[in-house]
Amino acid sequence: MAAKPNIGQIRNIGIIAHIDAGKTTVTERVLYYAGKERTIGEVHDGTATMDYLAEEQERGITITSAATSVEWRDHQINIIDTPGHVDFTAEVQRSLRVLDGAVGVFCAVGGVEAQSETVWRQADSHNVPRLAFVNKMDRVGADFFRVVDQIRDRLKATPVVLLMPMGTEKDFEGVIDLVRMEAIYYEDESKGADIRRDVIPEGYTEEAAHQRATLEESLAETDDRLTELFLTDDTIGFDDLVGGIRAATLAGDIVPVFCGSALKNKGIQRLLDGVTAFLPSPLDVPSAVGLHAVTGKEIEVGPDPDGPLAAMCFKTIGDKHGDLNFVRVYSGTLEQGSQVLNSRLMKAERISRMFVMHADSREAVEAATPGSIVAVTGLKKAATGDTLATKAQPVMLEAPTFPETVISMAIEPKTAADKDKLSLALQQLAKEDPTFEYRTHEETGQLLVFGMGELHLEIIKHRLLGDFQVDVNVGSPRVAFRQTVKRTVEAEHKFAKQTGGRGQYGHVKIKVEPSEEEAFVFENAVTQGEIPTEYFGPVEKSLEESALSGHRLGYSIINLKVTLLGGSFHEVDSSDVAFAQAASMAFFDAMEIEQPELLEPYMQLRVTVPSEFLSNIIGDLNGRRAVIEEITSTEEPNEVKASVPLTEIFGYASVCRSLSQGRAGFSMEPLEYRPVPAQLVDKLVY
Ligand code: GDP
Repeated sequence: MAAKPNIGQIRNIGIIAHIDAGKTTVTERVLYYAGKERTIGEVHDGTATMDYLAEEQERGITITSAATSVEWRDHQINIIDTPGHVDFTAEVQRSLRVLDGAVGVFCAVGGVEAQSETVWRQADSHNVPRLAFVNKMDRVGADFFRVVDQIRDRLKATPVVLLMPMGTEKDFEGVIDLVRMEAIYYEDESKGADIRRDVIPEGYTEEAAHQRATLEESLAETDDRLTELFLTDDTIGFDDLVGGIRAATLAGDIVPVFCGSALKNKGIQRLLDGVTAFLPSPLDVPSAVGLHAVTGKEIEVGPDPDGPLAAMCFKTIGDKHGDLNFVRVYSGTLEQGSQVLNSRLMKAERISRMFVMHADSREAVEAATPGSIVAVTGLKKAATGDTLATKAQPVMLEAPTFPETVISMAIEPKTAADKDKLSLALQQLAKEDPTFEYRTHEETGQLLVFGMGELHLEIIKHRLLGDFQVDVNVGSPRVAFRQTVKRTVEAEHKFAKQTGGRGQYGHVKIKVEPSEEEAFVFENAVTQGEIPTEYFGPVEKSLEESALSGHRLGYSIINLKVTLLGGSFHEVDSSDVAFAQAASMAFFDAMEIEQPELLEPYMQLRVTVPSEFLSNIIGDLNGRRAVIEEITSTEEPNEVKASVPLTEIFGYASVCRSLSQGRAGFSMEPLEYRPVPAQLVDKLVY
């Protein structure tokens, strides 16, 4: 593979799908056809190479996003893996941040399920151009056009069919390419590499002509020039058609739809052709925009290999040789052995080695140009969301945003030996996963871990034992409440102690007020000289820690801003410690004046359910303090969209099953924190 591929020939894509739609199998086939794999790995026997964490192989689901690189017809396709389970929403968010396009994989039987919809919406919010692949055409009950309709109705997209099936279920014999208007047969099912192109057989000519006309009509709606051609000409020429599809896909106006069976090795090569023909290269997406780390000025970073370096670190994996950081280059050239600036920390770091990652091997490279995704070693401080830049232009690219954790679990080491290893292990896990946190509860002294869901914390526990050899006892998972301030309040604390010898003196006045920002905001409004500048840092740190530890109930206080208004100091007795102490006491006093309000996490819930069970589902949700936002009942299955407090929806999988004889499906993702009704505070918290 060329070390510096032409930027226009790079495709950074993600494959997004509901669990079980066949994402892993599709990816495996892609690796195979692109010549990187000698044998085809199968998910069910646990040899799929993308799922390289042992944990994933055990569970047969994809947890960690790995980036892998393949070559297809002069193009380099970097596949950034995105898990389907919403407990791993952080993985999806960070992947969406660095990919340019995506392929949505749907099951021809299950269609658009609640979870595919959740991820699809996340991709919508990032304006990611997409293709759709309707997989499993060989399965009993496969219905290609039903899925196309669901893409239109459920996902509110405009699907245009480019590849339609010939036959379904066991008679699925091949596909019809509506761009070239030809039939494609796969002569050898075990590999699918032997392809025969032929005229469209008689039984399909009418349907193919109809679909082709629909395709042209859809395109005409997106492009005036094509409208003209459509009105004056009988057919639109090949180049116009391909150009029109590409432009409309990049604009997000259409979603080209392909079909096939990954398991039976059908349709994958055409999908790859679609990726190169219709999904954007790094040159086709808007330039990244960042902020100057010092001046805060906006900086646009275009894909220029000779420009100043701007590269985003989007994932860290601990390795026995140190951290491996996955980085996407946006501007400039990242070079092996070079020094770079981490613009968040304003610290220089050295890149020791760089690799292009394949599923199970690394290929060392010396330089990475814009659009490339490489794994680098040598960085000691870099974390997800950090930008690698230069001193001359310390740009900070917009970091992926991660939701607040919603669930907590008490954890304790089993033995003294485990205790020593635990804190290192937790540190490493938190570094790899921005939606994993841990801290000690101030009052109970209990060590708590925080995450996005029950499965997430269970995996963490497994990794502690498997990857870090730390054995722990855990409590049952609990909802992670938060607190917030409702009104502005001022407080003042003078911490003064005289115990013979040198005394202690710190004095601060603060204002605490509600803020739009979820994270802690600090402002310093101290006029010259009232407090020496060296104490500002300790005061800010102490206030932030106080907010994190919460007030009385021990739940972090979010959406607040604290302003340091003033205070006084003593020439001899003042110290960092005394000021930190004064700050935390002032904060405590402020919270005593204006008791913080308790917040609980709400989840966005989507349930797909056949009509006969709809009332069961709705009745049950009404008993769970759910706010039903939308019921779509125009087609089967119906869809219910609701926001529900997480406390009320623990263990919903089995409830949902029993209310619908196993026929309803659901998906949940964290939505926001909302106030706990006053009458429930005692019941929920104690
Ligand atoms: P993922 O959870 O989306 O990664 O899905 P997998 O690739 O793990 O596939 C889920 C299951 O569906 C596995 O048992 C696959 O063997 C099976 N599968 C995947 N693709 C196809 C297909 O095209 N046809 C059929 N019949 N089964 C498939």
